[in-house]
Amino acid sequence: MIDLRSDTVTKPNKEMLMAMTTAPVGDDVFGEDPTVNELQEFSANLFGKEAALFCASGTQTNQIAINLHVQPGGEVICHFESHVFKYEGGGIARNSGASTRTVGGSRGRITVSDIEPWINPSNDVHYPLTQLVSIEDTSNRGGGAIYDFNEIKKIRAFCNSKGLPLHLDGARVFNALVENNVDIKEYASQFDSISVCLSKGLGAPIGSLLIGSTEFITRARRVRKVFGGGMRQAGFIAAAGLYALKNNVQRLKDDHRRAKTIEAQLLQMDWVDSVIPVETNIVVCILKETSRVQEFVSAFEQKGILMMPFGKGMLRMVTHLDLSEEDISRLCLAIREIK
Ligand SMILES: *Cc1c(COP(=O)(O)O)cnc(C)c1O
Repeated sequence: MIDLRSDTVTKPNKEMLMAMTTAPVGDDVFGEDPTVNELQEFSANLFGKEAALFCASGTQTNQIAINLHVQPGGEVICHFESHVFKYEGGGIARNSGASTRTVGGSRGRITVSDIEPWINPSNDVHYPLTQLVSIEDTSNRGGGAIYDFNEIKKIRAFCNSKGLPLHLDGARVFNALVENNVDIKEYASQFDSISVCLSKGLGAPIGSLLIGSTEFITRARRVRKVFGGGMRQAGFIAAAGLYALKNNVQRLKDDHRRAKTIEAQLLQMDWVDSVIPVETNIVVCILKETSRVQEFVSAFEQKGILMMPFGKGMLRMVTHLDLSEEDISRLCLAIREIK
């Protein structure tokens, strides 16, 4: 099977497994796992931040961050298609008692002008207190769209003027960073907290990082424990994350090139209405006949190819490190054959 449903489907290769099985470990709830500590220091340094916390998933890192930034009755501003709002089981309300002000914006991205009307006046008791802005780079629902770094800087400046923290859901931040040519430390300096997935394009089996100041991460450790995320000999999985950060970042460009190949093939087909312009490793194809999504998914499946139905009229294909050039050729052939 050629599995394009997600970049989460990858499995560790031999070298990654070797790194995992030979990792020195200890009890990480006691702070004694040398491999977890190494991963946290390595990633904090990489982003030019003080500290990092290894967590079970990207949902967990986002939810911990939000929990620290807001109080019950507060409000988070984010895109209406953002992961933190749409795909975390209502966690902002459930875990933090906060409401969400969702805003629009092109391809999963938001701008200062999208945010500005929704900053509530703190001296009027009618309104929830606006307490956080959260953005997603790259944007999943936006078809892997990358933020213009200048827009991020404008959002940061705006947040500063309102005294608001800025969180980055950077589940796929390395897909953005290998393309936007922005210095990683300068990029990271725009955010109060950053969530990074090791188990997406980077190819680790499990794990995400929450990155921020020492003070923030100290508090995050407590919330992680309360959320049931304190892990013991987690070094075995942290080793996979270290391996991924050291070996699998630059190769993301291969995934992006292959996604462009898929986009070009799709654009030649008369059953395709359009493709969200490909910027990274996510290809979202919009069908002419929007009711036929399941039919197309099944037809590809019969040819040994898995893709994801992605809402009305949309198919999602994601490239990742377990696909070969031959798989991409086979996919393009299948795209040409299907009607
Ligand atoms: C995958 C993803 C996450 C985290 O997902 P987990 O499955 O909980 O690791 C967060 N944000 C975005 C944009 C994602 O794509």
